[in-house]
Amino acid sequence: MSGKAPAKDVQQAPSRDQGRVLLITDNPRLSACTSALEGGGFFVAGVAGGAKALIALQRTRPHVVIADARLKGVSASEMSRILSEAQDAVPFVLVGDEGATLARRGEAMKAGASDFFQLPAEVELLIERTRQLVAHKQSLDRVRVEADRDFLTGLANRRRFRRALEQEIERFRRYNVPCALVLLDVDHLKKVNDAHGHPAGDRVIRAVAGALTELSRDNDTAARLGGEEFALLLAGVDSEKAIAAAERLRLAVSSQTLEEIGQVTISLGVAACPAHAGTERELFSLSDSALYRAKSGGRNRTEVADSSSAEGEQHCDDAVAFGLR
Ligand code: GH3
Ligand code: MG
Repeated sequence: MSGKAPAKDVQQAPSRDQGRVLLITDNPRLSACTSALEGGGFFVAGVAGGAKALIALQRTRPHVVIADARLKGVSASEMSRILSEAQDAVPFVLVGDEGATLARRGEAMKAGASDFFQLPAEVELLIERTRQLVAHKQSLDRVRVEADRDFLTGLANRRRFRRALEQEIERFRRYNVPCALVLLDVDHLKKVNDAHGHPAGDRVIRAVAGALTELSRDNDTAARLGGEEFALLLAGVDSEKAIAAAERLRLAVSSQTLEEIGQVTISLGVAACPAHAGTERELFSLSDSALYRAKSGGRNRTEVADSSSAEGEQHCDDAVAFGLR
């Protein structure tokens, strides 16, 4: 959050770091404080009451919610529950036109709000408190992003991958949306490290990550699981399309020539849900087994899970080793 901006500039478009605030009220006396908030440097992403507030919450993804304590049909504790159950919990303050007595502030805090402010009398205090909450939410969001990122490649890390895999399998169970998992491993990376040094090995890892990023779509999760092992989780994709994606990836990597290192290759294993597997563990194990076959079959190749074999069960230990259970 930076200094004050004139209201008309703020209304045009939010700047990258500007705090987004959602005002939930159907009281015109409270919504009148919009321009004061804009004058305080915030982007007021919406003013909504009732059922529209929930839609606005999902659509605008505010850093802070300023909610009317006397909103029709929603109690403060209900509001608190809704906001804390939102995808990332959103901090909120309550406002109203009655006096901010100790009892009222205490009740607001007990319900989960940061405070209660009387409007318009305490609008300056509201602005300062909102500024603190926005800054806090923004740093929390940054920490969350970092906690999910692999430091060497910028891809999702294993933690994020596990969550994405859980979500995809859940989407299949609920809505029958298929998904597929490609596991891949750099071939003979040890030789690159031995011949050219560890930084060269790191360059190989970043080159593979670059190909993964380029070939994955918005809904996919490209992750580095650790060392020289990667995963590409494909959302809404069947087995055929996953095999095609794996082959595109294999060819994209092997067609590059890295300075001083030369050609790099990868081996890949593909498994799909529901074609081969119905649980996270099975999907991971079957894809891992297929990768193992790609390695033992000569490397620089893609192998597909065989749902008729018992290899998923045989390799459940791998799923344990990969931290899936
Ligand atoms: P394979 O084709 O069987 O996968 O051979 P490989 O040499 O790639 O596999 P192996 O499991 O024998 O060795 C993995 C190598 O990857 C050794 C390890 O030092 C290297 N490695 C793992 N993580 C990193 C990393 O972050 N940076 C670098 N430079 N090397 C890494
Ligand atoms: Mg390897």
